[in-house]
Amino acid sequence: LGTLYVVATPIGNLEDISARALRVLTEVSLIAAEDTRHSTRLLQHFGIRTPLVACHEHNEREEGGRFITRLLAGEDIALISDAGTPLISDPGYHLVRQARAAQVQVVPVPGACALIAALSAAGLPSDRFVFEGFLPAKQVARCTRLETVKADSRTLIFYEAPHRLLDSVADMRDIFGAERQAVLARELSKAFETIKGLPLQEMYDWIAADSNQQRGECVILVAGYQAPDDADEVQPEAQRILELLMAELP
Ligand code: SAM
Repeated sequence: LGTLYVVATPIGNLEDISARALRVLTEVSLIAAEDTRHSTRLLQHFGIRTPLVACHEHNEREEGGRFITRLLAGEDIALISDAGTPLISDPGYHLVRQARAAQVQVVPVPGACALIAALSAAGLPSDRFVFEGFLPAKQVARCTRLETVKADSRTLIFYEAPHRLLDSVADMRDIFGAERQAVLARELSKAFETIKGLPLQEMYDWIAADSNQQRGECVILVAGYQAPDDADEVQPEAQRILELLMAELP
């Protein structure tokens, strides 16, 4: 049986590819790529001549069968997406599922992932977080989605397209509150990398005032919900009743 390698590629800076990724991409018989033209540039840069076959969201299910046949025949295949880790807001889920169902070994070759890079530098709590991927493009659906995580105490992480950034931050401000802390991580590992933390209202104003912030690729992180400080405190009346009850205990 062959092996399906799920290989992470850089999210901007080509130096972020691992030595193992380069070796695997060189050694496999075939690379299944989200966009073969895009990946040709990456492979050319590293002098890798392995044949590329398209594996994107429109053909993944149908082509999957062909990849599985080749894996079952003993060929090794590497799956890559345009940037970062495949399957993370990228194609690959159906192929990995099919491969595992066919008892084919699936081996991750870890590397860059925008949400993890952003979280590692954002300065927001990183012990518990949720990745919400891309929000819906339409405002009503977007707000409905935001409502579902409004009271979540974990750090919230979103991917967003640059042309929707301002609208999404406006909706986050309206739903999570103007004071909720957010971090915009833009163009990570690239020349204009920016990581900026501000409360949502100030974040909105800052992005609105500087159109450069509405360009390139970005991750939005939002601090999780925190109960107001006094919510945890026992109210005086409750305290009085508690003391009365305690006195009755044997
Ligand atoms: N598979 C990728 C990963 O592992 O992060 C994500 C692919 S998804 C189609 C593209 C989105 O990831 C962008 O819209 C942006 O939200 C985020 N992203 C990718 N590269 C980025 C970068 N260099 N800086 C900030 N965000 C990035």
